[in-house]
Amino acid sequence: MQSTIAAIASGTGGGIGVIRISGGLAEQIGQQLCHPWPAPIESHRMYHGHVRQDAAHGGEALDEVMFCLFRAPRSYTGQDVLEVYGHGGVVVLARVLQRVLSKGAELAQPGEFTRRAFLAGKLDLTRAEGVAALIAARSTEAARHAQRLVGGELGRLLGELRRTLLAVLGELEGMLDFPDLEEDRALLDGVRAKLSAIAQKLQSLADGFSQGGRALHAGLTVALIGRPNAGKSSLLNALYGAERAIVDATAGTTRDFVEVSCEWAGVSVTLIDTAGERADATPLEQAGLRLGRARWHQADLVLWVIDGSTADGQAEDALAAQVLAACDLPWIKVWNKIDHVTVRPSPGDALRCSALCGWGVEEVRRQILARRAPRLSHEDELLVVSTRQARLVAAAAAAVRESLRGLDEGIHAELLASEVRIAAARLGELTGDAVSDAVLDEVFSRFCVGK
Ligand code: GDP
Repeated sequence: MQSTIAAIASGTGGGIGVIRISGGLAEQIGQQLCHPWPAPIESHRMYHGHVRQDAAHGGEALDEVMFCLFRAPRSYTGQDVLEVYGHGGVVVLARVLQRVLSKGAELAQPGEFTRRAFLAGKLDLTRAEGVAALIAARSTEAARHAQRLVGGELGRLLGELRRTLLAVLGELEGMLDFPDLEEDRALLDGVRAKLSAIAQKLQSLADGFSQGGRALHAGLTVALIGRPNAGKSSLLNALYGAERAIVDATAGTTRDFVEVSCEWAGVSVTLIDTAGERADATPLEQAGLRLGRARWHQADLVLWVIDGSTADGQAEDALAAQVLAACDLPWIKVWNKIDHVTVRPSPGDALRCSALCGWGVEEVRRQILARRAPRLSHEDELLVVSTRQARLVAAAAAAVRESLRGLDEGIHAELLASEVRIAAARLGELTGDAVSDAVLDEVFSRFCVGK
């Protein structure tokens, strides 16, 4: 029998805190925990009472609570679940949880409630990952999209593709058992059409991760780099929409880096303003530069900001190449201060803006999103949201492409079948239809405790 698990399911510090208990002991623990305990208790009904210490400890009230028993299988995990709604303070919740654990429950592992729900067939793995994505969502668009995963849209699509692959596999195996040249040719044409359509769909899903899914769920980090006084802090403020970084005419105002987060077109964007890159930096400035670099080397994109009133395009390219050589990040050149009286002609591939007047700033935003998340402008596109999903979809797409290549080259049906089998297995791993404990450990370890 599975153990009974318990955890704070709500986070702490809010008005209300929720303790969730799942497993065979849930009702028995409730009887000892909540007073008065209704006999018999009705499932899915809310009751009022107190959680008390044992009489041996004076029976002191730990909290005044509402509680509800969800009897198996009509519960989140498919097991008996008791939820206790008390006050959200960290100490009061910890004391109630301690009582629950002293009555025989074990502290839940990260994601263990959702894992049990998955094992009980309540949701497939893509929906479970949707739950994690929804909890982690840092922007409205990410939350909207995660909600679609929770609703099962991705799981249904992948399930459909997998079923078609298995049907194709059946056809190929039939061919092996009862070969018939004429019939086989017609059958193979049908197989080719189905596999092409599946390959296209899977490749599009795989590409969607780098072209939008990753940005949607992990957010985008953009670093503003350039010489001192180029206008990096001013551009950060303009992009952020409020004054956040100190702007000063004295070079070297930003000593290490400043970080702000905002939301553009539903995407969470972190902007990093760095100390200006210069060859003659003092030891203190060098230390700041080092700190900043350690941070911005993990960015998704660099905005190379140039003071358009003094710069010479070639020297900028040389400095940028030198500074960016260590990190292999995509970058966009921004020719700033175009309002300035002495502004010089910019090289053709640079965006032009004035951080001071706001000219061109919207275009800078647009280009950042277009560069790192082009698919997000296609509103209703379904995107995969995790590296795991992207990796498996890409592997399935590659196997289907391989089988198509085999078809064209007239390779034996047995070899074709083995590639189709691989593709179906990858999709099975995605939805959780065929998945190892190690994979489940990896997926659920990314959840928080209590989810
Ligand atoms: P940073 O050292 O690269 O962060 O540069 P700052 O943002 O601190 O700006 C340096 C100086 O350039 C300040 O005096 C700003 O007011 C000025 N500056 C920044 N952007 C513009 C711009 O678009 N036009 C003009 N004319 N001045 C600007």
